[in-house]
This record gives sequence, structure tokens and C-alpha cells, in this order.
Amino acid sequence: MIPKPSTLAEAVALSQAGGLFAAGRTVLRPGAAPDDNLIDISRLPGLDGIDEAADGGSLLIGALVTLERLRRDARVMARNPALVALLGLVAGLGVRTLATVGGNVGWGAGDLVPFLLAHDARLETSEGVHDAVSLPAGALLLAVRLPPQPPMSFVEKAGYRAAFSPTLITVALCAEVLEQRVTSVRIAAGGGVTRPQRLGRAEALLTGVSLGGFDWQCLADTIEDELDTVSDALASADHRRRVAARLITGRLVEELARGAA
Ligand SMILES: Cc1cc2nc3c(=O)[nH]c(=O)nc-3n(C[C@H](O)[C@H](O)[C@H](O)COP(=O)(O)OP(=O)(O)OC[C@H]3O[C@@H](n4cnc5c(N)ncnc54)[C@H](O)[C@@H]3O)c2cc1C
Repeated sequence: MIPKPSTLAEAVALSQAGGLFAAGRTVLRPGAAPDDNLIDISRLPGLDGIDEAADGGSLLIGALVTLERLRRDARVMARNPALVALLGLVAGLGVRTLATVGGNVGWGAGDLVPFLLAHDARLETSEGVHDAVSLPAGALLLAVRLPPQPPMSFVEKAGYRAAFSPTLITVALCAEVLEQRVTSVRIAAGGGVTRPQRLGRAEALLTGVSLGGFDWQCLADTIEDELDTVSDALASADHRRRVAARLITGRLVEELARGAA
């Protein structure tokens, strides 16, 4: 019998005793872990809202909000259209109607994490506030605080096939660009076997320089060199690095051309 706590305090106490939170159970499918080791958090109160944060611009997305509900939310569509596009590429409808935001972040391999990292989203947890890759072990994610999408923002998921595909690599970028000069940029990659990570050297290369005569090949080489990933049965680490470099560089060039048009 899986315990079903009705308060946050009870859920956290069960986790401290060694239990594992289970939400939509699309990763923790029946049989994935012994039932008596799980904590069913799917009915915990107060974790299924999508609300305006007090800062006036961010959305507070409850950990139990399903990926499909998030994808269809009118405020998310208006403020974070890149997220809506990404969610359309995460699993199929049947999985998205069960899969939660908390499970995507808690799994550690979800496509949302690089997106949240590039957007400097904050995780509100039972152990305080953290960035998107720093959910403390055993902490309960309560909500994600997602800032509005900046004028330049994109996320690209490459899969092994055209649709309903496991993730090869997901990349995300948020930038402020003034007169062809990048004043700030956050670039992240992750998903599947690639741990979510910022690409700090690529960010440093772009920041403050004029993009007029920019050496895009140098950016692509830096990303390939910097991305920490591994090979699996379907793709080599080098292939993942090349795909990530081309996705980021290609979309950035496209976005700049669109901005200049
Ligand atoms: C066929 C299929 C295709 C998929 N495709 C994709 C894909 O394309 N992209 C992708 O990103 N994912 C994919 N997934 C993985 C998964 O569906 C999602 O990542 C989903 O969001 C997990 O949410 P869940 O509620 O089902 O998590 P669960 O299975 O309930 O839990 C997953 C992990 O998160 C932890 N967890 C859950 N909630 C919390 C919380 N509130 N606080 C702390 N930890 C928590 C659990 O302890 C567990 O470790 C796929 C899964 C399937 C079955």
C-alpha cells in the first residue's frame, strides 16, 4: 500500500524516512520501485495551481500541474510561447496528461530543465529556493517560479526521430540584444542522458561583443568543446555535441536576422 499523505509536512517526513515521491508515475511506473518505498503526492493540496507571482511578471507553476495542462494554459501561451512549443514535443498526449512539472524536474533528465535553467527559473521547495538544477535530494518541489520570456528566447529539442521521440538533446537560450550587441545571455542544454547544464564559455564568448562580424564557427566549436555529455546505444557524445552546437548557432543567427529585419 503506497502512503498518501494529506499534508506537506507528512510528505516531507516520509521522504526523510527514505521514501520516494511519486506524482504522475510516468517515470516511476508500477514495478519501477517497491510500492512501500513510494509516497503518493498526487493529492497533496495547494500544488496544482498556475498563478501570477507577487513580482508581477513571473508565473508560479505548481509541482502537480500536468505538462498538458501547462501547455494549454492561456497565460503560459501569452507569456512563454517557447515553453508551449517545447511541451508539444514532450512525450505524447497520453503521457502529458499524467506527467507533472515536479516529476519532470525531479527526474533530472526532463526537457523542461534546460528551458528553466536558461530562463533563470527558481524552484520553490520544502528546503528553500533553488535554481533549476539544484533540487536538494529528498526535497519536495512545491512550485516553479518562471519569469516571462525575454524578447530573444528559444528552445529546441532534437529527438532520434521526427515525432514522439526520446530526447537526443534539448537546448535553450535567453538573451538581451541591443543594437547587435549581446548585453546578457544564458544558454543551457540537457535532456535524456545529458545532465542539464549552463554553457558558460559560450555565454562568455557572446557577451558584450558586436555580432556584426561575429565568428559563428568559433561559437559552434566552443559549444562542442564545452558540452558535457555521454554516448548511448543510439548516438555518440560527439554527435550530441555537434547537434547542440548547430541548433544553438543556427537559431541565434536566425533570431538576429529576424530582429534586424
Ligand atoms: C513514453 C514516455 C515518453 C516520455 N517522453 C519524455 C520526453 O520527451 N521528455 C521528457 O522530458 N520526459 C519524457 N518522459 C518522462 C516523463 O514522462 C516526464 O519527465 C514527466 O514529467 C515525469 O513526471 P511524473 O509526474 O510522471 O513523474 P514521476 O514518475 O511521478 O516521478 C519522476 C521523478 O520525479 C520525482 N518527483 C516527482 N514529483 C516530485 C516533486 N514534487 N518534488 C520532488 N521530486 C518529485 C520522483 O521522486 C521521481 O524521481 C517520457 C515518459 C514516457 C513514459
